[in-house]
Amino acid sequence: MIYFVSAAALILLFLLQRARSQLRAFEAKERDIRDALNSLAEDQKERHGREIQRLLDALPYAFFSISDHGKIIRTNLSARAIFKNQDLINHSIQQVFHDAPIVTEIENVIHEPSSYRRILRLPPNSLFSQKSKDKDSHWEIDLRSITIGTDSREVQLMMRDMTANVETDQIRQDFVANASHELRTPLSIISGYLENLTEEDGIKNKAIAQKMLITMDRHVDRINQIVEHMLLISKLESEEGSPLKISPFSLSICVNDIIERLDPLIEKQQAIVLNQVPELELIGDQFYWTQILYNLIENALKQNATQPVTITISAKKKKSRDLIIKVSDQGIGIPTRDLPFIFKRFFRVEKHHSQAQIKGTGLGLSIVKRAIEAHGAKISVKSTPGVETTFTIETPQPPIC
Ligand code: ADP
Repeated sequence: MIYFVSAAALILLFLLQRARSQLRAFEAKERDIRDALNSLAEDQKERHGREIQRLLDALPYAFFSISDHGKIIRTNLSARAIFKNQDLINHSIQQVFHDAPIVTEIENVIHEPSSYRRILRLPPNSLFSQKSKDKDSHWEIDLRSITIGTDSREVQLMMRDMTANVETDQIRQDFVANASHELRTPLSIISGYLENLTEEDGIKNKAIAQKMLITMDRHVDRINQIVEHMLLISKLESEEGSPLKISPFSLSICVNDIIERLDPLIEKQQAIVLNQVPELELIGDQFYWTQILYNLIENALKQNATQPVTITISAKKKKSRDLIIKVSDQGIGIPTRDLPFIFKRFFRVEKHHSQAQIKGTGLGLSIVKRAIEAHGAKISVKSTPGVETTFTIETPQPPIC
């Protein structure tokens, strides 16, 4: 009996031990599985994080996520590029964005969760104005307050450089305002004269009527010229860009043709126009090059109507790739303070023009500049009033368009 009981106890003990070791093995396995699941979750989290970062880096805009304590927690490639790859993580918004307006906007959204988009104007000394150099820059900021999990929030900020768009808009607005102003003046003169002429007896005084008609004709010419110049500018600036018709042509023959066209004016003013261009070929759009040189030579004539002026056109090759073309005159010249503005639309040096004189549209040099830039070329001007004014064009050959 004793023998039987002790055998049963031994078996029980053995079974108990086996169960215990099985339990331990199970526990170890469970631990392994739990660990494996945890590292899988970590892996997935990490992979997920990497995927999000990859998507953010592909964004063409600067992106920052900011904790509700005002610390940077994530950035993207464009954002890091602005800060020259400095480490921004865990830095406060005040340390990162020295620009008070951006900091204020972020703080507002941290304190009062909301989402909005607006354009900020940042001063020239702002980190964000590096590309616009000495000018203000304009940035669209997109701020969003996001809930993470159950109780924490973050602010996401996207910043897009809108400087070029804002400037283009401004140029367009100025252009329309200036164009309407320039057109209104001759139109109101014409309509005033027409009213006089159509009044009773207005046409009877032939001498006065004749004078009015001549003035009206001059103003109609001016309107035509403004419209033509405006069309040319808009062609040069059209979105699709009117493709240039590039081919080689003789620069000297082109200059001779222009001189021939201007012959009546040259004779009238007793001017001397010297074509010193050697026999060489210019590769470019002949229509635009004719327009460029015509405007420069005509300007030198127009600005010196009261004194005989000598105008010289010359050209030479530079380093076998570039061509330098110069148009110079010894006339009235351009005051130093006006030089930075002469390529701007509708700009005319005030003292050269009295209201009675109608000499141009103020668009001639902006057409010249646009057409030159369309060829990948550049233009500069130097002027010592009363001594010499020289416009220098440097154009790559063949052109870079
Ligand atoms: P405009 O139609 O009035 O000639 P432009 O754009 O061609 O307009 O020229 C702008 C201004 O630059 C002119 O009004 C004139 O005051 C000045 N300018 C251009 N070329 C000369 C020059 N060769 N000599 C003196 N002034 C010039």
